[in-house]
Amino acid sequence: MPTHALFLDLDGTLLDFAPTPAEVVVPDGLPALLAALASARNGALAILSGRTMDDIDGVTGAPFPAGAEHGFVCRDSAGVIHQPITTTANRPAWRQALDDAAATMPGVAIEQKRYTLVAHFRRAPDHGPALRALIDRLIAGVPDIEVLPANMAWEIRPAGADKGRALDWFMQQTPFAGRVPVFVGDDTTDEAAIAAAKAQGGIGLNVHRDFDGTTNAVRAWLARAVAEPQP
Ligand SMILES: [Mg+2]
Repeated sequence: MPTHALFLDLDGTLLDFAPTPAEVVVPDGLPALLAALASARNGALAILSGRTMDDIDGVTGAPFPAGAEHGFVCRDSAGVIHQPITTTANRPAWRQALDDAAATMPGVAIEQKRYTLVAHFRRAPDHGPALRALIDRLIAGVPDIEVLPANMAWEIRPAGADKGRALDWFMQQTPFAGRVPVFVGDDTTDEAAIAAAKAQGGIGLNVHRDFDGTTNAVRAWLARAVAEPQP
């Protein structure tokens, strides 16, 4: 697909989930696959992930264009970082309240990012509702802050940025502009990018709806796309 621009989620799309993000195993050959896909598209490949930029680079092995933290932090093809959001949901009082709660909820992990706070409950699904109730109380009445249901996690974040807007932003940049966007993602946070790709006349794919639900199927499809151009 040499005329396409490729946008890829990481966790649940190219990588299998692990109990914590730090425990994810990068499949053999993934960095080489991404490099080959980017090369075949004149560099028009971007990662759109909830991870921080450092975490993304640790997985991909190279500083690809990327929208990190669900698009709050975008890095263009020249390596320049763009940060359109000026407010933050990473507030000390909220961090403290979440830490206090996590201390009483074994298996719950609190992650602090530049703009967001994430309460992970993959290891303790029963605590999900109570965590959500706490978060709803913390952010009640606070303008421009929202809670995003991520995969076995709640993310408190500034409102107004999502993967769809990140995709739209990249499509105005070299070398993406003028190409047809193709996005692959797996969860609710990816639906905005799926819709954005379709709105631009492109293709938005969901790992569960359009593949067999496995990251292996996505990687195999991408490997074929290196060898034989296809949408
Ligand atoms: Mg994902």
